[in-house]
Amino acid sequence: HETNRARLFEVLQWAEEQFHQTLMKSPAAQPAREYLKSRGMTAETVTQFRLGFHPENWEWLIDRSKGKFARELLLEARLIGERDGRQFDYFVNRVMFPIHNERGQAVSFGGRILPGSNDDAKYWNGPESAVFHKSRLLFAIDHARDAIRESNEAFIVEGYTDCIACHQFGIANVVGTLGTALTDDHVSAIKRFARKVILVFDGDQAGQAAAIRAVEKFLLQDVDLRILTLPELMDPADFLERQGAQAFREIAQTAPEAWDYRFRAAKAKFGLNSIDARQRVLDEMLSVLSCVPKMATSVREPLLIANLAQRLQVPDDVIRRQLSEVRS
Ligand code: ATP
Ligand code: MN
Ligand code: MN
Ligand code: MN
Repeated sequence: HETNRARLFEVLQWAEEQFHQTLMKSPAAQPAREYLKSRGMTAETVTQFRLGFHPENWEWLIDRSKGKFARELLLEARLIGERDGRQFDYFVNRVMFPIHNERGQAVSFGGRILPGSNDDAKYWNGPESAVFHKSRLLFAIDHARDAIRESNEAFIVEGYTDCIACHQFGIANVVGTLGTALTDDHVSAIKRFARKVILVFDGDQAGQAAAIRAVEKFLLQDVDLRILTLPELMDPADFLERQGAQAFREIAQTAPEAWDYRFRAAKAKFGLNSIDARQRVLDEMLSVLSCVPKMATSVREPLLIANLAQRLQVPDDVIRRQLSEVRS
């Protein structure tokens, strides 16, 4: 079993190297090089993140692996797939973003289409394997861990390019999710290194919805969770390109606490100017609270209830009673 894991890491590292060397040198990768350049990625960044390119050939990696790695191993590493009894490379004609574990070992890849491609999935992640668990892994954790420890603060962004842009702009305490919703495992992983976690969501509809969902999941985690949403449909990469690192740090300072963020969202929806509006805000916040299991030892819940009571001017014990009704 252990040998097998070692072999998986070996073949994944080999693949990373094939993709990277191809991006750096191959004539076929010229459009990919131009694309990355057009997105403002420096040569240093491309090297640091070992970005790569897989050419338009469904057996490119298979061919290169011959005499080096067993086909079974490529399958287990999820570098190739199988359909109708035929095997083919999993990523084709894509810019490759290696996904590393905490120790810096490649465990999978994200692949992005180039502009003008008729493939409809912009990004494509490798499927899970014995060494790759999406719900646990954070992109760039290997590059970000020390900076997160030092600052006691971590940013979590949505995209590969967002994460990479932050690092390139000198903001190193940044990791990314892998196109999945943020999970408990992600937060547990990051909590080991930092008390304060700032979730940065894209300023679009999907980002806003993800922010709302994230709050409910992490309300009772003992972590100082902040929610940063970016203006005007920008994501962190767009924002940095237009406004720079200093503006990003400044806006990050203003990120509200998760609970505060959630309250403001409810308030924006219903207002607070009538009895009925207050009732609706209270109902919504109760349903948020009821999503999280009651923890006898948590001081968070009474603090949240007190905060709600004060904001809505409803006695604590009324809210507590309503909450246990909603829960049961
Ligand atoms: P770019 O700036 O390169 O156009 P992005 O990173 O801003 O892309 P989004 O559409 O905002 O891309 O998506 C955020 C992240 O979600 C991506 O970086 C990727 O990790 C993931 N993702 C997006 N689409 C898919 C998909 N079809 N399959 C898997 N993951 C995806
Ligand atoms: Mn890395
Ligand atoms: Mn983007
Ligand atoms: Mn985005």
